Amino acid sequence: MNKPESIPQREQSTSRIPSADELGFDPNELRAKYNFERDRRLRADGEAQYQDTDGDLYHYNDDPHITERIVREPITGEIEVAILGGGFGGLYMAARLQEAGIDNFRIIERAGDFGGTWYWNRYPGAQCDVESYIYLPLLEETGYMPKEKYSFGPEIFEHAQRVGRHYDLYPRSLFQTRVSEMRWDDDDSRWTVTTDRGDVLRAQHVIVSSGSLNRPKLPGLPGLRDFKGHTFHTSRWDYDYTGGSPAGDLDKLANKRVGIIGTGATGIQCIPHLGKAAGELIVFQRTPSSIDLRRNTPTDPEWYAAQRPGWQIDRNDNFTRMLMGLDVEEDLVNDGWTEIFKSLGDLMDGTGNSDLTDEELQLLGEIVDFKRDNRIRARVDSTVTDPQTAEALKHWYRPWCKRPTFNDEYLPTFNRPNVRLVDTAGKGVERVTGKGVVVDGVEYELDCLIFATGFEVSRATYTHQADLEIIGRDGVRLGDHWANGMRTYQGLMSHGFPNCYHMGFTQTGYTPNFTYMLENQSRHLAAMLADVKARGLQAIEPTAQAEADWLALVSAPNAMTDYLANCTPGYYNAEGQAKSNSDGFLQGHYPDGGLRFYEMLAEWRASGDYAGMTTR
Ligand code: NDP
Repeated sequence: MNKPESIPQREQSTSRIPSADELGFDPNELRAKYNFERDRRLRADGEAQYQDTDGDLYHYNDDPHITERIVREPITGEIEVAILGGGFGGLYMAARLQEAGIDNFRIIERAGDFGGTWYWNRYPGAQCDVESYIYLPLLEETGYMPKEKYSFGPEIFEHAQRVGRHYDLYPRSLFQTRVSEMRWDDDDSRWTVTTDRGDVLRAQHVIVSSGSLNRPKLPGLPGLRDFKGHTFHTSRWDYDYTGGSPAGDLDKLANKRVGIIGTGATGIQCIPHLGKAAGELIVFQRTPSSIDLRRNTPTDPEWYAAQRPGWQIDRNDNFTRMLMGLDVEEDLVNDGWTEIFKSLGDLMDGTGNSDLTDEELQLLGEIVDFKRDNRIRARVDSTVTDPQTAEALKHWYRPWCKRPTFNDEYLPTFNRPNVRLVDTAGKGVERVTGKGVVVDGVEYELDCLIFATGFEVSRATYTHQADLEIIGRDGVRLGDHWANGMRTYQGLMSHGFPNCYHMGFTQTGYTPNFTYMLENQSRHLAAMLADVKARGLQAIEPTAQAEADWLALVSAPNAMTDYLANCTPGYYNAEGQAKSNSDGFLQGHYPDGGLRFYEMLAEWRASGDYAGMTTR
């Protein structure tokens, strides 16, 4: 492993790397602390520690937002494209298909409306941590101005509905409908798409945009089924029980003892609202999040109106370039995300070194991370009054080990007299009982237990996450084809599954802004499908060789391999158990990053020869 074991001292490396004295902290000590914290969280069962919301736990998965079940007759017929999922991916896809002259499509969506993750995640405080001007899709097309730099969930959900209306997608969508199976018929090159409403659609193309983080998961805790109080997952928030709305004011919790498990990106957003409302709130923590300032601001209408046509894509490219360390004239977004990347450049410029070795670069990168982490930990000390609680709320891992978070209300919540942090010293909750939760032998009695424990992400369980069966040529199931991990060509298609396209983090190009990814994927797919139509092709399919080559490319060790291997466990690194370089959410992507990935796809399209594919 290419991990630096120690920081070179001044006399060893001249002035290229700042010394501990110059830094005011000892990187070796910090690294040892990070390793200690990681090691005590590593567990043999890895991703298997979680359980699915299946069987008798399916109620954690039910849709609490549907007020009226749609009654309709089953639909049959021929369409050009079936789009699975009405989240941002499905919306983008529908918009771009129309622009490419393909109108005969249907969106099939399990939920009761558009919005995807923003349909489901209506927990109080839900907010996007990426700037709204680059995160909300199709702003120029719809003429919408986000209210703030960082939008809250209801505004984003409403915007998804706006996009649906703008492109007249409601009449072409089947809501409250789950695709149960898609089966390829090689004789006439069509997919048969069947749903739980008895629909049978024949589609030339199927596009699966079922979401990367959509299926709630629970910790596999003993006694979980015994709990007699009220319980739900954050992505299925129960306002009937808590009262209030996504804006807060959870008035029915005033006399309740509420417990919440999970302090990730979701937990830190809803905990401030629970703290305000609950009679008593106990936060069960296994690993603290790193929490930087949010600094939200209202949108200046004059500034917004002055943006030139094409600004949204330019801004998104600018953000992505920043995150890849590429030159930009100006940091347009200029926030906590771009700051993470600017700091490394600043430090390198500051030392005047343009000829750093790889090892020196790694060391500098680590120092930059440590500086940021120190600043965030100092904020905990200056915000949280009880020193023991403050100490427990400090994170000890590098920024990309878990999703960095930004929130101004979370830390002060722990100064409230009704809020208590139960830190589990990295071990997690021990078990659940009929009355509450046990940590370290102590039972905490609760009226309500909320799981902010995230979503299924294992690469091997894609069809389970999407809750559908995809059966390709010769009856091969995608779940079997991907039993040992995803196998794709360009992250979008698989051998044996003609005319079937996947959107999202399926061995594509990573960027923290999902919208950037979905926008670019939809543009690519729409252009490709229009070309397929223009050429009168019936089917396209990657060759086995192209798929194998792609797998080798995305599985090769890359800049993040060692970084993630040294991280505290989480879904980014397959809970610390990545068996190959394509395991874990942040691995198995195009090695040159998101921006370059879409440039590569554009070049591939422009060549017009469908390299790596068979066509007929
Ligand atoms: P995560 O998977 O990130 O967090 C799950 C939490 O549950 C972690 O704190 C985890 O601890 C904890 N946990 C799991 N098992 C136990 C246990 N046995 N005992 C105690 N604690 C336990 O899920 P989230 O829903 O928070 O976030 C998922 C993703 O959703 C984010 O990473 C982000 O990509 C997205 N998101 C984005 C937002 C945005 O602003 N755009 C907002 C919210 C979510 P541990 O860390 O130790 O594993």
